[in-house]
Amino acid sequence: MPPMPSQVPFLDLHSQITPLRNELDAAIRRVVDSCGFILGPEVPAFEAEFARACEVEHAIGVDSGTSALVLILRGLDIGPGDEVILQPNTFIATAESISLVGAKPVFADVDLETQQIDPARVAAAITPRTRAVVAVHLFGRTAPLEALQRLARERGIHLIEDACQAHGARFARRPVGSVGIAAAWSFYPGKNLGAFGDAGAVTTRDAVLATAIRQLRDHGQIAKYDHVRIGTNARLDSLQAAVLRVKLPHLESWNAGRRRVAALYDAALRGSEFRLPAPLAAEEDHVYHLYVVRHPRRSAVVHALRDHGIGFGLHYPVPIHQSAAYAFLGLGPGSYPNAELLAEEILSLPMYPELTEAHIEQVCEVMTQAASLSG
Ligand SMILES: *Cc1c(COP(=O)(O)O)cnc(C)c1O
Repeated sequence: MPPMPSQVPFLDLHSQITPLRNELDAAIRRVVDSCGFILGPEVPAFEAEFARACEVEHAIGVDSGTSALVLILRGLDIGPGDEVILQPNTFIATAESISLVGAKPVFADVDLETQQIDPARVAAAITPRTRAVVAVHLFGRTAPLEALQRLARERGIHLIEDACQAHGARFARRPVGSVGIAAAWSFYPGKNLGAFGDAGAVTTRDAVLATAIRQLRDHGQIAKYDHVRIGTNARLDSLQAAVLRVKLPHLESWNAGRRRVAALYDAALRGSEFRLPAPLAAEEDHVYHLYVVRHPRRSAVVHALRDHGIGFGLHYPVPIHQSAAYAFLGLGPGSYPNAELLAEEILSLPMYPELTEAHIEQVCEVMTQAASLSG
């Protein structure tokens, strides 16, 4: 009997935090010592550094990616009576934010190979009520920004980027988050750039929108107790900003680590029954927030991974239009066939920059064996 192989976690934050532990502790201590917990100097410092990294004029720190999306929509005065187009296979927050401002989410199906929103289907979904389309850089792969931007210009709607899974990705050499009117970012701990709790940001090159969002995140204030609009409390807190400032300089090398892992998966699984992430076109990029494969008999593979202590995920197991939360839209099976098929076949493999070659081999061995037995 060979020795029992070690377990492979889906995500391992310890391996990222340990080498930075002293710097992170010092950053946290700095905030505690200053007691500047709310909008202290760490927040504008992080905003300036993140704006520079995204090659935009404005970054506004907020308390989550969901808040970032809501504030962008509110900043653009999108609300009741308006429609916003998105794909059905994304994290629910993309749709929720639209609902939360009182607008209607309108789905457009995705391309089966790239799993990204299909610009032709977006064009078909536009009505006189459409105000915006959300381009989700799903799994860290860039959305078809060029086609969507052209469409948005031609039809007079906004292009909003949901960059919550794509920190550091570039489309045609432009950083994501700098192409649309604004972009929403999440720094949820498991994202490519993660805080020690909930956190997010909006990036934009539009000074008027930036000012609106800056006010909205802090009770519509322009000065203490001078409330010029009805805002909310959606501020990035100083502790999270301090942690993010330590981590941001490492984003590029972490993304390189993720690409290394993806290339090893590609090599080990090529020629197997698994359908791998589609090759990238010249202008596209991928920072592998998730490495997602497809298999027509996924449950056999899932069982084998479970039996061998290998972590995995399903992103996402239910397309948003088929979730109980959105049942009221009355969009039955067959409404978005590609998204529905993907929900049945997708499987996310362990992915983090420090994942070892031995672990990758172990994952691929279990998968290929399970696939061949299930046939
Ligand atoms: C994580 C995520 C969000 C929401 O971010 P939170 O910080 O968890 O609110 C929105 N959209 C996508 C695509 C995400 O992956």
